[in-house]
Amino acid sequence: MRIHEYQAKGLFAEFGIPVPPSRAVASADEAVASAETLGLPVVVKAQIHAGGRGKAGGVALASNADEVREIAERLIGRPLVTHQTGPEGRIVRTLLVEKASEIQSELYLSLVVDRASRQIVVMASRAGGVDIEETAKTDPDAIVKEWVDPVIGLRGFQAFRIGTRLGLPTKTARSVAKIVLALYRLFCAKDCSLAEINPLAITPDGDALAIDAKITIDDNGLFRHPEIGELRDLNEEDPLEVEATSVNLNYIKLNGTVGCLVNGAGLAMATMDLIKHAGASPANFLDVGGGATAEMIEKGVRILVDDPDVRAVFINIFGGILRCDVLAEGVVAAAKNLQIDVPVIVRLEGTNVEAGREILSSSGLAFRTAGDLSEAAAMVAEAVASTAGGTA
Ligand code: GDP
Ligand code: MN
Repeated sequence: MRIHEYQAKGLFAEFGIPVPPSRAVASADEAVASAETLGLPVVVKAQIHAGGRGKAGGVALASNADEVREIAERLIGRPLVTHQTGPEGRIVRTLLVEKASEIQSELYLSLVVDRASRQIVVMASRAGGVDIEETAKTDPDAIVKEWVDPVIGLRGFQAFRIGTRLGLPTKTARSVAKIVLALYRLFCAKDCSLAEINPLAITPDGDALAIDAKITIDDNGLFRHPEIGELRDLNEEDPLEVEATSVNLNYIKLNGTVGCLVNGAGLAMATMDLIKHAGASPANFLDVGGGATAEMIEKGVRILVDDPDVRAVFINIFGGILRCDVLAEGVVAAAKNLQIDVPVIVRLEGTNVEAGREILSSSGLAFRTAGDLSEAAAMVAEAVASTAGGTA
């Protein structure tokens, strides 16, 4: 789960990472009032779950109240398009008004889980600011890394060595080391998968200060952090994914045109491969799980049909704990309540399969049932090819 910059800075403050004084606001009036309380000049920053705001005009310096109002009115309630948002952008609903800092140089600092070494890795670079992806490509040696032994944890000398390896003066290296250690404590305490400060500003006094803050929490750890769960901003998430999560369906939106409803992650992966193999491509991953109820199935079908990219629905179920008759009831209920104008191909096997097929065929609805998997895949590919717009 992603959280906003202002929320991440709240966590930074809690863990002793220095951040400039700031206020999160939802209107231009509040922005002006906050700027006056904080003291001008301020930086006004659009809060969306995407980076690249600086380059896209979503971060702006204001030296008086009129400028604050102007910037706030330009940003709030409108979509901000950055290289990370896609062409539709994200609607800005919150602004962070932050006391402007004097910045002498900008470092990059992040912690991520390095899957290859199965350790947390600390990465830092003097090429901070807005172009770190570019640095990673063109000058990877400019990024220093320290791996953390999970048994021992991050050691003080490692944190200090980051600064010296970057060639920073001792005072600055110490200030950076403190932040690295605090960020590591935060990372572990909150089950993060990413914690990034870009830029980590160095002030004219040689101290380090977090100007930006980006945190991603591992969803599997969220149950341990109800306080983080409360920071969730559903406006920033795919509405169909939000709906799926609310009924415990495992749903991920993809780029293709075949909506898939499958039980079990392994079968779901195999189904996606099969669709590809037949020349079409999946519009989503949807695992209804072993213990799905008819209501969950109905919701799942609804989510698929609501996706404007879907040109055919493929229901592929191996009835184990989820019985085929329960599945069929859910599908029929969904089809009766919805206007489904794409072909629905069903392949059922397993517990109560006869009863399931009977429910489908006596429903009077136009399901196409497939005898086996390869027949199903061919039917799906043909259905997609024959709908308007053709290709997968
Ligand atoms: P991002 O583009 O979405 O990553 O947004 P950032 O929060 O990183 O801001 C982009 C850039 O704006 C930073 O790299 C800084 O150069 C600049 N910036 C942000 N806050 C301040 C500030 O308080 N003072 C100054 N001088 N520049 C700032
Ligand atoms: Mn940034």
